[in-house]
Amino acid sequence: MLMPHRCSGCGRCVEVCPHGVFEIQSRKAKMVNADDCMECGACQVNCVSGAIKVESGVGCAHAMIHAALTGKEVSCGGPGGCC
Ligand code: SF4
Ligand code: SF4
Repeated sequence: MLMPHRCSGCGRCVEVCPHGVFEIQSRKAKMVNADDCMECGACQVNCVSGAIKVESGVGCAHAMIHAALTGKEVSCGGPGGCC
């Protein structure tokens, strides 16, 4: 779920989403490929404005295992990301 009134348009969600779900349009994030979302949670974790809420799902197995092993939150993309 995206809450546009909270979005600052920083573009972080565009950067971290491994499936190109977001675009910035008119200085706000917009979900343009919602069907491709795998519910990894990376966008929610990285949105400092609290504009994104991801309903928990299966998510990315690599990210889930990494989070379990390190005790950190599930996050995809960035250094060491696999997709
Ligand atoms: S990370 Fe959050 S505040 Fe930044 S563009 Fe995406 S939804 Fe908006
Ligand atoms: S939960 Fe993951 S796949 Fe879905 S929009 Fe956020 S970053 Fe992209």
